[in-house]
Amino acid sequence: MSPGNALSPEALGLGMTSQRARDRMIENLRAQGGISDERVLNAMRQLPRHLFIDEALASRAYENTALPIGHSQTISQPWVVARMTQALLEFGQPQRVLEIGTGSGYQAALLALLVDEVCSIERIDELLRQARRRLRRLGFAKVRCRHDDGSAGWPELAPFDAIIVTAGAQALDPALFEQLAPGGVLVAPVGGRNGQQLLRFRRDADGISEEVLAPVVFVPLLPGLA
Ligand code: SAH
Repeated sequence: MSPGNALSPEALGLGMTSQRARDRMIENLRAQGGISDERVLNAMRQLPRHLFIDEALASRAYENTALPIGHSQTISQPWVVARMTQALLEFGQPQRVLEIGTGSGYQAALLALLVDEVCSIERIDELLRQARRRLRRLGFAKVRCRHDDGSAGWPELAPFDAIIVTAGAQALDPALFEQLAPGGVLVAPVGGRNGQQLLRFRRDADGISEEVLAPVVFVPLLPGLA
């Protein structure tokens, strides 16, 4: 797969069981509808989601469900990950992508299979350390991670061709829109703690356009460091 990372032998040398489980997950994603981008489906077929969660939960890794990753956070549901990733790629091939909310590192790794440059911010130090270690072990060394409150993006590395926010906020910081390159796309769950609308914003010559994609439920985007 180009132009992103290749998986390390460790990640690929997995038993048939998990490859079968991943194949089934892809069939289920197709059956649910809304996901048609073969690049996204192929990347998700490769990526070992069970290595991004605690071993005790590994048997549930390929169910279409969010799972706990500690610190009251979750790895997002596969359908939602697929939908958001597809939404980022729909208007062309982004080069540099910013993720806000590294969590387990799964979404960052998926993006690294699909785009040139992935930058990801996480506010919980311990989660970020684990994600960094995991990404390095799996061969995703080029994902740039930062321990910070990402609500206002990563201005030093802007502009981004795409920004993905993986925690729910009542409102988005205007700084995020300023960090979008022309033609750039921002996908984010916007709303309260009990549920959000997945929104896609696009920066074009006339300004910023907005589109509602789907109802979703994310953990909240929180201020400050932990
Ligand atoms: N994308 C992740 C799932 C993220 S869950 C994955 O693939 O596993 C949401 C994450 O956003 C949590 O880890 C949470 O700590 C983080 N988060 C919440 N508010 C944040 C903020 N202001 N800045 C950076 N990260 C934040």
